[in-house]
Amino acid sequence: MRRIKIVATVGPVTESLEMLEKLIEKGVNVFRLNFSHGDHAWHGRVIDRIQKINKTRAYPCAIMLDTKGPEIRTGDLKVPIQLKKGKTLILTVDHASDYEASGKVSVNYDAFIYDVAVGDTILVDNGNMTLRVKEKKKKDVFCEIIDGGELTSRRHLNLPGKDVSLDSITDKDWADIHFGIKKGVDFIALSFVRSAEEIRKVKQFLQDKKSFISVIAKIETLDAVERLGSIFEASDGIMVARGDLGAEIPFAEVPIVQWEIARMAGQYRKPVIVATQMLESMQHSPMPTRAEVTDVFAATWQRNDAVMLSGETAGGKFPLKSVEAMRSIALATEKNYLTKRSIRRTEPDCERSEFCKSAAAAAIDLPEIKAIVVITRSGHMANMMASFRPQVPVLAMTNEIDTCRRMQLVWGVEAAEIKFSSDPEKTIQRAMKKIIEQKMCSIKKGDKFVLLSDILAGKNMMPALQIREF
Ligand code: PGA
Ligand code: MN
Repeated sequence: MRRIKIVATVGPVTESLEMLEKLIEKGVNVFRLNFSHGDHAWHGRVIDRIQKINKTRAYPCAIMLDTKGPEIRTGDLKVPIQLKKGKTLILTVDHASDYEASGKVSVNYDAFIYDVAVGDTILVDNGNMTLRVKEKKKKDVFCEIIDGGELTSRRHLNLPGKDVSLDSITDKDWADIHFGIKKGVDFIALSFVRSAEEIRKVKQFLQDKKSFISVIAKIETLDAVERLGSIFEASDGIMVARGDLGAEIPFAEVPIVQWEIARMAGQYRKPVIVATQMLESMQHSPMPTRAEVTDVFAATWQRNDAVMLSGETAGGKFPLKSVEAMRSIALATEKNYLTKRSIRRTEPDCERSEFCKSAAAAAIDLPEIKAIVVITRSGHMANMMASFRPQVPVLAMTNEIDTCRRMQLVWGVEAAEIKFSSDPEKTIQRAMKKIIEQKMCSIKKGDKFVLLSDILAGKNMMPALQIREF
């Protein structure tokens, strides 16, 4: 069983029922819908298809809604334009402006004109091109082209290190979040988070609507990098959004931030997704570059919870091969590290986490232990168990199907639904039966396992750790 999970972005080449099914067979755990593109009708259709497939499968996939956030983008262009080094490009906040007629490229955000200053650097398309502001005149910003290239429609603009006055959660984002609640998505990934406050706002909104959607903070601004601790605390998970991050801070520092986040994840016990350009060349090529292979290896080796595909599965030529490549690199990496004593990257901080630590230790010391079974309602205990990165799979047995889907983002956890009984021993028996019937993690009758559950001690329920046999 693969421990690290795979998140795949759905796009035009993967929107069909057949392709979604094939992606799941190749190993996708979570589908990401990027709300920078597409309308509610399109996203709604894709969500319906995934939910239809989920009804037919033992392990339902999760759905992640990724907000557009306060993105600054250039406008539509009929044909791409060539930016030549040393020449001038005029950006304008005049939305009526059309490049063919005016020679100016429009920008979607009005306050852009106030946020940029003469001398500022502007990165275009995640840094593929670079501009420097020379002059501002009414609605126009005159820029010197420092690094040229081909400018296509709706490219992303970054102002490195600048605090822009755009609201970090836009009206469109709120409408999209509302749509996600109605459709029953599992995760909301918040783009361009700057502080824990924004995450708390969204969580409050969800709570008011009686929704249990998890909120993932995308780390892609300098402010977020400087406030990692409070953002970890406030969120349900983290995405290392390396595309924008590498434009907002020097790209050379991205791996250090990724490393630091992987380290902190153990302390805060929250899932971490490493995202963007992992297998970028596979948008056009059936085989990854060796540097990309090493990148997926590194994210797996760091014991992150998930790796993500963006353009590779949304619009690339080889979406299925991309998932296959990711899966095989992850498996090869884990095969190597799982034979060694696991690194415990976290220390217990409460009674239940002491149990988890003991369970992880038992799995190392007793080679006959084949799994750690956790009886868990919300998934909290399974997630805590997984944060110790044990040698054997964690089987999360829950009475809530939502928990099964949420566990699709957590390292080393496989989840299944059972009915809970008021008698804890009955619940345990049902869990064992289900694991054998469903052949979870190839467990067989007679295999030993560690069990984390509540038991009856007299009249009281108590958490307990047992070693038992299937
Ligand atoms: P995006 O986020 O794909 O929505 O831009 C990921 C990133 O910036 O890396
Ligand atoms: Mn981004």
